[in-house]
Amino acid sequence: MTQGRTHVSQDEDQRETRIVDVPHGREPIPDAPAETVFRLDDVHVYYGKFLALRGVNLDIGKNEITAFIGPSGCGKSTLIRCLNRMNDLIPGAKVEGKIDYHGQDLYGDAVDPVEVRRRIGMVFQKPNPFPKPIYDNIAFGPKVIGMQPKSMDELVEQSLRGAALWDEVKDKLKQNALSLSGGQQQRLCIARAIAVSPDVILMDEPCSALDPVSTGRIEDLMEELKRDYTIVIVTHNMQQAARVSDRTAFFTAEAAEGSGDRTGLLVEYDRTDSIFTSPVDKRTEDYVTGRFG
Ligand code: ADP
Repeated sequence: MTQGRTHVSQDEDQRETRIVDVPHGREPIPDAPAETVFRLDDVHVYYGKFLALRGVNLDIGKNEITAFIGPSGCGKSTLIRCLNRMNDLIPGAKVEGKIDYHGQDLYGDAVDPVEVRRRIGMVFQKPNPFPKPIYDNIAFGPKVIGMQPKSMDELVEQSLRGAALWDEVKDKLKQNALSLSGGQQQRLCIARAIAVSPDVILMDEPCSALDPVSTGRIEDLMEELKRDYTIVIVTHNMQQAARVSDRTAFFTAEAAEGSGDRTGLLVEYDRTDSIFTSPVDKRTEDYVTGRFG
């Protein structure tokens, strides 16, 4: 096993040492994405009059895993929801600036948000399978959007294999999905996302409700999924970001002068090994070494 680079930092008084391991057994990645899926240009997001996120510029690379990290309330979930127009569903939410998806304005008049959410799937913090048989959970999406696979059985099997769940459920496809463990339910949700042939999978803290073993399985799965999909993950677990992602965006929230409102902003975006071993901004360094707050 290749040993990872280690960033060690010591607090002034030497009482505490924090370590973030950055595995680098993976293929090295270029400084900038070879192919861009999303290009964000000066993105601001409001909830009513409240500016939740300001001035985000970011390129998300194809077949890469991009992690959004930062303290609670800095706008990570807000931003990931912009990437498949989930914020359209939140009353008062408004996105300004430009988000291009494969060179096309994601918020353009001709764009159908339903088609956007098919191509850009989402997995949530809490697994949310339908209270239906495992098979139906997977077959539902393809049926609703009118996909006509040669064989639905094959599509269900492929999707469950893609989410590393097939072997565990192949003999109980008629069983209610709610009978599965939390980790299995989350992989079922990933299989459900895969079933409609997406291009991108967004994951908003997908492991925060899971035990360490289930978390490890999802992290291994992400590494496999990125061969076929582009993945964006929000995580408050820095070790997880260091383990799974190729690039990391660090956000924080700061109060504007004369205002009590804290607005989120992107502090630094770089290859994950750089963010964790040689961050440029002091705020990033403080966060990844645990000195934040
Ligand atoms: P994070 O994911 O980093 O914890 P969020 O994106 O959830 O941050 O929240 C960013 C800011 O936007 C916070 O101040 C939060 O209270 C606010 N916010 C999030 N969702 C809504 C909403 N639906 N309506 C109003 N304010 C919201």
